[in-house]
Amino acid sequence: MGLIDALIRGSMPLVPRGLIWLVARRYVAGATLAEALARVAAVRDQGYGAIIDVLGEGIDDRAGAEAAAREYHLALAGLEGLDPDCPVSAKPTHLGLTVDEELCADLLSQLCEAAATAGRRVRFEMEDAPTIDASLRVFERVRGQHENVGCVIQARLFRSADDIKRLLSVFGAGLDVRLVKGIYLEPAEIAWTEPQPISDSYHSLARTLVQAGARVALATHDHVLADACAELARAAGWCEGPLAERRYEFQLLMGVQPREAARLQALGHPVRIYVPYGQDWHAYSMRRLQRNPEIARHVLRAFLRLG
Ligand code: FAD
Repeated sequence: MGLIDALIRGSMPLVPRGLIWLVARRYVAGATLAEALARVAAVRDQGYGAIIDVLGEGIDDRAGAEAAAREYHLALAGLEGLDPDCPVSAKPTHLGLTVDEELCADLLSQLCEAAATAGRRVRFEMEDAPTIDASLRVFERVRGQHENVGCVIQARLFRSADDIKRLLSVFGAGLDVRLVKGIYLEPAEIAWTEPQPISDSYHSLARTLVQAGARVALATHDHVLADACAELARAAGWCEGPLAERRYEFQLLMGVQPREAARLQALGHPVRIYVPYGQDWHAYSMRRLQRNPEIARHVLRAFLRLG
């Protein structure tokens, strides 16, 4: 099965964009902001919160980073009157981290300022290990100026417990972390590579954050882990009162495990759906398909029928 899945994954780049799009619609709102805003409204109609992400990463020039930031400002403007609390989420290398750290910090800071005027939050994501030191430097600097920015911590990395300890020592309960397992497959010298130690690390980091009173976004589709983390929130007395005032929430990717989102919602937890959009939808969708051999198999069958 492993070999067949690997072959299916490897065949995905041969499939035409039009066919990929038929499936990608599940994971991506569209290429334009208008499509993203329509999806945010649909997500709200289902009783979930939303998060907007402009697709893109690995920008290698100033103009590209500034263009990405402009799109985020348009997204913030577009959300006015539509969704009072939808945050935006941005990747460091989309905002020019590897072009110039200073530029990235300025663009993130301006984004936080614009978001703050509408009472919104900004999430600074984490990418592969070589970018993390610089990303955390930018985050810590901008968080020192703007309270409405949070970061992402990847449970698979050995360093994450120390990173959280340091961030808590600086920002205390004002720290806002989205906890993820980590999408980047890092080498065994710096990261756990097997599912169980990654889950154990996730749970341990969640416990540290909850006990410190930090805000925690539990971004996982793993229902066993979600239940274990919900228990931490319950034990801390966090599961009472209005959803909007909770210190924790669950976050899931659009189109991934919708039943899990509904289950968490039915259990009374705040749930937010990550809504990505943008011209880079093709690369993002290919990554989602390569993660999910079931759907990739359908795409490949349809492709072979066309041929
Ligand atoms: P898993 O055990 O990997 O998955 C549980 C179940 O969900 C499995 O059945 C699995 O097949 C299915 N599943 C999970 N993810 C997908 C997918 N993408 N496509 C199809 N099926 C899937 N990672 C980072 O490194 N940096 C970030 O900034 C970041 N931001 C994120 C934001 C959100 C809102 C979410 C939900 C995830 C984010 N991630 C980020 C990705 C995260 O690190 C994991 O790779 C991803 O969520 C899968 O781990 P899991 O906890 O869901 O558990």
